[in-house]
Amino acid sequence: MKIHEYQGKELLKKFGVTVPRGIPCFSVDEAVKAAETLGGKVWVVKAQIHAGGRGKGGGVKVAKSLDEVRTYAGQILGMQLKTHQTGPEGQKVNRLLVEEGADIKKEYYVAALTDRATQKVAIMASSEGGMDIEEVAHATPEKIIKVFVDPAAGLTDAQATELANGIGVPAGSLAQAVDTLKKLYTCYMETDASLAEINPLILEGNGNIKAIDAKFNFDANALYRHPEIVAYRDLDEEDADEIEASKFDLAYISLDGNIGCLVNGAGLAMATMDTIKLFGAEPANFLDVGGGATTEKVTEAFKIMLKNTKVKGILVNIFGGIMKCDTIANGVVTAARETHLAVPLVVRMKGTNEDLGKKILAESGLPIITADSMAEAATKIVATVK
Ligand code: GDP
Ligand code: MN
Repeated sequence: MKIHEYQGKELLKKFGVTVPRGIPCFSVDEAVKAAETLGGKVWVVKAQIHAGGRGKGGGVKVAKSLDEVRTYAGQILGMQLKTHQTGPEGQKVNRLLVEEGADIKKEYYVAALTDRATQKVAIMASSEGGMDIEEVAHATPEKIIKVFVDPAAGLTDAQATELANGIGVPAGSLAQAVDTLKKLYTCYMETDASLAEINPLILEGNGNIKAIDAKFNFDANALYRHPEIVAYRDLDEEDADEIEASKFDLAYISLDGNIGCLVNGAGLAMATMDTIKLFGAEPANFLDVGGGATTEKVTEAFKIMLKNTKVKGILVNIFGGIMKCDTIANGVVTAARETHLAVPLVVRMKGTNEDLGKKILAESGLPIITADSMAEAATKIVATVK
């Protein structure tokens, strides 16, 4: 789960990291009022969306008067902000963060993340803050340094000092940078984050270290113990179909292709998408109905897939283990009738009660195309949509 920058900064602040004073806003008037409340002469008006790269896309503006705050807030609020992380259609801006301006002398990058290779938490830092870190990793990988944390010891002073020195924090600010890195680590651990990124962490003219951006991802499997983080969820930032699917406990991800896939098991769903691609077409979604799919669940899954007007055909690929093929067959027949299915449907089912399942499909009178192997199923569905 992702959260907004201003929420991320609330968390960082709670763990003792210095952040600018700021106020989230939902209207232009609120933004101007926020700037007045904050006081000072320089403010930053920032689009709040669940994607990075906002600066480059025009979603971060420095205002030098209340009039400018009004102008920028008006421009940014409601805009369809396109960044390298939003996709070509962009993301609509519904919230702003108005902050006191920072006096930036140097921008650094710091992040805590889960490193799969070492199975440890990695703390990453770079002197090249403010930039897209993927670009830094690609062009100048020597400018990224990493340490791996022993969970029993936590991030040690020695490690944090190595990082702060490595990115060139001046001596006078070193202690503050070390302190910030250790607090970032604690925040990451205590919130069950999978990513806690500050880009940029800045050195101010007066030597202070401050986090002026915050990006968090949280492990969905640990959210049950963080109601305060679940409360940060912003459904406007999430795909409507994916929200609908989650209500029915279906794991659904929208994709760009035109073949809808309904599969049981995440591994089989991945393999099914690979097979579709191998045979020259593109999947419209990932959909795992899970092991305990009922007729209602399958019907909902069909409805969600068919909402996507790009879908030109559906491939059902079921392995009957705990899930019985006849249950799925009943679900498919009911769903096809209820949704007045108008696109070709290929069904492949194997395993428990396979014969019974196939009989239900055959006797339904519906124009369902059956297949025995994955290759046959993929060949047939790809041929019908081409
Ligand atoms: P992102 O583009 O989505 O990562 O948004 P950021 O919050 O990182 O802002 C992008 C850039 O805007 C930063 O790297 C800074 O260079 C600039 N910026 C952000 N806040 C301030 C500020 O208070 N003062 C100044 N001068 N620049 C800022
Ligand atoms: Mn940033």
